[in-house]
Amino acid sequence: MLILVVNAGSSSLKYQVRDTAAPEAEQVLTVGLIENIGTDIPDHDAALEIMAAKLEEVLDGRELEAVGHRVVHGGEEFTQPVLLNDAVTAHIEELSSLAPLHNPANVKGIRAAFHKWPHLPQVAVFDTAFHATMPEHAWRYAIPEELYKQYGIRRYGFHGTSHEYVTHVGAELLGIPVDEFNAVVAHLGNGASATAVKGGKSIDTSMGYTPLAGLIMGTRSGDIDPSVLTTILQRDESIDAARLDTILNKESGLLALAGSNDMRKVVEAAQAGDERAQLALDMTAYRVASYIGAYNVAVGGAQAIIFTAGIGENSGDFRKLVLDRLGALGVKYNAEENMVRSPEPRVISTEDSAVKVLVIPTNEEKAIAEATEALATK
Ligand code: AMP
Repeated sequence: MLILVVNAGSSSLKYQVRDTAAPEAEQVLTVGLIENIGTDIPDHDAALEIMAAKLEEVLDGRELEAVGHRVVHGGEEFTQPVLLNDAVTAHIEELSSLAPLHNPANVKGIRAAFHKWPHLPQVAVFDTAFHATMPEHAWRYAIPEELYKQYGIRRYGFHGTSHEYVTHVGAELLGIPVDEFNAVVAHLGNGASATAVKGGKSIDTSMGYTPLAGLIMGTRSGDIDPSVLTTILQRDESIDAARLDTILNKESGLLALAGSNDMRKVVEAAQAGDERAQLALDMTAYRVASYIGAYNVAVGGAQAIIFTAGIGENSGDFRKLVLDRLGALGVKYNAEENMVRSPEPRVISTEDSAVKVLVIPTNEEKAIAEATEALATK
């Protein structure tokens, strides 16, 4: 099936066309990115027209058969991919208060695609959905219940499509049925999260109500004592809630600690003797290792630790910093194998390691295309 996968942001639109019937290596027909929506390009409809013109050249007479949309927030309602119609799209729009930066843009992308291809089945795949299986003791916050009831304040978790995809690839790689597979997944990209997977399902994850919680990220602080926020708001009149939000989401993390949110640069600087960069790496790796330890308990003993996304897949230097802290779990890895870069899923632990360590390239677009095909052909 020829499927267009769309990831609509507020000012950009990423897309990929995949042929799910083609051999693995030939599934991607084209990838693209349209930027400056809202400035150079007036709106998402105009961006879609530009994309459609480019697709026409590439597809050479072949017709798209379905569209899959990445949607950030499915709230408590959408726990599975869903076939889109006007009512479902409106429902996704209503969840905008939970993801004010992302859901409105996702909805614009969906409406523009319906406008352009009204006859095609379209599917939404949610970043939160994989975490819908978390038990209440993991998703509730210890705050007054009205805040949960009134505003939906609870842990949702994100990167679900990626966590789910690499969980399935990992189980297959080890020859374990996925519903018997216990793992800790570390999705380490510019955004980063860890997930506790038990029996192939998410039972806890480090991101929370928003993608700010948990690990130290490229520009996000990750976990922080909430009193820090009230203290700053009370003491510094030049900082209001919106500014604080920007500081924590865009000016913190590796960027604040080491002057760059690019892991490659931070590693290079540390190797050249920059102490700030080394501290940033130690803090970031320590936080990842601590979550892996906690989630190893949560899943009752992990069979595997999975590294994925930009840093997790590519930075042997960073994986080493994490893995060297996991001796107490009986983790042993092959130092040479750890430094190899490869597009293939692989095992980097030694035979006698108590827990397998896997490096698995994520592929959210493939997962979205497959979910889209499954619903579009139903
Ligand atoms: P993502 O958000 O998954 O695209 O990941 C982005 C992050 O991956 C950035 O911090 C990059 O610096 C990092 N990254 C990509 N390639 C490498 C590499 N070869 N070594 C270290 N970090 C990398």
